[in-house]
Amino acid sequence: MMLACELALAGVDVAIVERRASQELVGSRAGGLHARTIEVLDQRGIADRFLAEGQKAQVAGFASTPLDISDFPTRHPYGLGLWQNHIERILAGWVDELGVEMYRGCGVTGFAQDDTGVDVELSDGRSLRAEYLVGCDGGRSRIRKMAGIEFPGWDPTTSSLIGEVQMVEEPELGLRHDELGRHALGRSEYEILDGEVVFAKEGPVQVMVTERQPPPTGEPTLDDLSQALITVYGTDFGAHSPTWISRFSDTTRQAAAYRNGRVLLAGDAAHVHAPDGGQGLNTGVQDAVNLGWKLAQVVNGTSPESLLDTYHAERHPVAERVLRNTMAQVALRRQESRIEAVGEVVSELLGMEEPRKRYAAMMSGLGIHYDLGEGHPLLGRRMPDLDLVTAEGPLRVFTLLHDARPVLLDLGEPGGLDITPWKDRVQLVEAEYTGDWELPVLGAVPAPTAVLIRPDGYVAWVGEEGTDQGLAEALTTWFGPRGG
Ligand SMILES: Cc1cc2nc3c(=O)[nH]c(=O)nc-3n(C[C@H](O)[C@H](O)[C@H](O)COP(=O)(O)OP(=O)(O)OC[C@H]3O[C@@H](n4cnc5c(N)ncnc54)[C@H](O)[C@@H]3O)c2cc1C
Repeated sequence: MMLACELALAGVDVAIVERRASQELVGSRAGGLHARTIEVLDQRGIADRFLAEGQKAQVAGFASTPLDISDFPTRHPYGLGLWQNHIERILAGWVDELGVEMYRGCGVTGFAQDDTGVDVELSDGRSLRAEYLVGCDGGRSRIRKMAGIEFPGWDPTTSSLIGEVQMVEEPELGLRHDELGRHALGRSEYEILDGEVVFAKEGPVQVMVTERQPPPTGEPTLDDLSQALITVYGTDFGAHSPTWISRFSDTTRQAAAYRNGRVLLAGDAAHVHAPDGGQGLNTGVQDAVNLGWKLAQVVNGTSPESLLDTYHAERHPVAERVLRNTMAQVALRRQESRIEAVGEVVSELLGMEEPRKRYAAMMSGLGIHYDLGEGHPLLGRRMPDLDLVTAEGPLRVFTLLHDARPVLLDLGEPGGLDITPWKDRVQLVEAEYTGDWELPVLGAVPAPTAVLIRPDGYVAWVGEEGTDQGLAEALTTWFGPRGG
């Protein structure tokens, strides 16, 4: 949905094919958003919709160590507790507003690509012709498999049952840790008060219980959930009337390539891993925001197809790090004296200022750095949402990104930069900024005189000392050759 909206903003004719008949999500998956995802939504002017429904809290952490980001230089130095069904509903509202066509209740059953496009077959017998097809179809992605893209990685070592049930007895809500792993009982309705989760007093109970056995095949049943509860708690608390029951594991895999010709992958279709650290949905949303403007420029004919290769080059390493950190966190979950000792050491290290900042930046997404070469520290990093002063009045940087169009921010002498050959694609904004330039982890950085900001909010070029050296190359690389 995020990708479709990004494409729609750029004027691309886009459609979503969704197997589910409605956006209603049975079961709970992601529990919220990290700071960088909130920023990305803010760049499009829709963060408030999510903030209004969720609970701000310090949600970043590594294994059992919380990582506070309240001192980070961002307008959103926190995460947001908000269940995935609400996140999807709010996004679906934006999809509707932007007029994206949605083929609901039918799946993609096959496709064939040729030199000019892709024929996509739908389960209801229809077929669609598209210039590009992006598989955002989850971890079991049919599109990834049919595109012949390898999905190497690691088989599961642990599995957990999750579900929502009624209970006759009132269980002890909260976390439990034993030799099997981590377990949790809670309610979907909760408040965060002074950093503590306070569950609603009544209503169905949400269960997460780690299983003793490796996952059997087939859909889990109420009996499986009851047995797992009895193993851990000695009782199933009279569990009955499940709303849903599901299973997740620490299967860890990543697509070897994010693109095969006219077929691309994003989200869980490109990477799966354990839910530790709450990173899956966040990574997927940010994949979409990296890919959207690039694909739009290729479809609109302003950039060559090779721009799409930067999608894999930038996003594959980000998910690779997520895979690595989730594997480490799963290992630290094990209740074994030596692993516990490693956990204590890790926790001690993360209590130190520099490691805390680095890991908090990694887990919150605020530390993402795309390798755009040597240069000013801003290059390849997220543009901070500064308060600018323009001839028309005060302006936030993120407001300039609402339409997902690139911006050249000229902070030097007015009229100093000329981008006439790109003026149809890049907004030139002259502004003043007198405050500090500060980045997460790195701290203060030298004030630039100009910054070229990509539609995804990452810095593509930095002007120093008033020169435009390298600007034409950066404009060509990212936004296509000179226009007429
Ligand atoms: C227990 C648990 C907790 C989690 N917690 C977090 C968290 O706190 N934070 C976080 O960021 N992430 C979390 N995640 C991960 C998160 O849920 C996923 O990363 C996210 O849903 C991936 O989004 P996606 O759109 O890529 O794929 P999906 O959400 O899987 O969506 C894929 C969509 O494609 C549709 N589809 C599939 N095949 C076809 C087809 N052939 N044709 C048409 N449509 C098709 C499906 O119906 C589905 O709607 C958690 C996951 C689990 C299991």
